[in-house]
Amino acid sequence: MAVRVLIVEDEEQIARFTELELKHEGYEVAKAADGRTGLSMAEEGGFDIILLDIMLPGLNGLEVLRRLRKTSEVPVILLTARDAVMDKVSGLDSGADDYVTKPFAIEELLARIRVALKKKAAAAPAEDDSVLTYGKLKVNPTAYSVTYDGTPVELSKREFDLLAILLQNRNIVLSRDTLLGKVCGYDYFGETNVIDVYVRHVRSKIDEPYGINMIQTVRGVGYVIKDE
Ligand code: CA
Repeated sequence: MAVRVLIVEDEEQIARFTELELKHEGYEVAKAADGRTGLSMAEEGGFDIILLDIMLPGLNGLEVLRRLRKTSEVPVILLTARDAVMDKVSGLDSGADDYVTKPFAIEELLARIRVALKKKAAAAPAEDDSVLTYGKLKVNPTAYSVTYDGTPVELSKREFDLLAILLQNRNIVLSRDTLLGKVCGYDYFGETNVIDVYVRHVRSKIDEPYGINMIQTVRGVGYVIKDE
């Protein structure tokens, strides 16, 4: 299967040139021209590596990286302006795997991509790293399974989605509207309090029987799962 690369770069010429070169090398390429689009595409997953410009409209590259690192360990190579030393330092601090300075020679970029992919392959954990945990709770989004201390917990599809989304966005308060869109679909037109109902269900199946306070209500805003 082809290696999938996401290019997040607002300078169209650079994005297009890089795309052509990467495709020529046999990579599959997708592009985003601003930070928010790039982040949501990256969060959707399915990419093997991300090339991330720092100066982006909407959300800058470092912020995209910081948010992405909450849920994903996908290799990220930053594209930085010449001599922006601080960018490189904060980029590596924010969890970038490497950086190239623009304008870059395509050979250098290709070499750095190969190194980052190899490093990732070598570091691949034995356990499925997509499993979300909260204390003794384990949520496996690929297998759609939930266990608490090894005991299976039965959740409906929407209860499961709600729980997974809150865990994937740990420490971020999500509004009812956001949750509604993600759990029920953005074309959902029923009652908005269904989210409260699903939260109640999940609490009654996990929080209450196991005596934990996982899903927290933020009055007037929505819900959050914080670090345990
Ligand atoms: Ca830029």
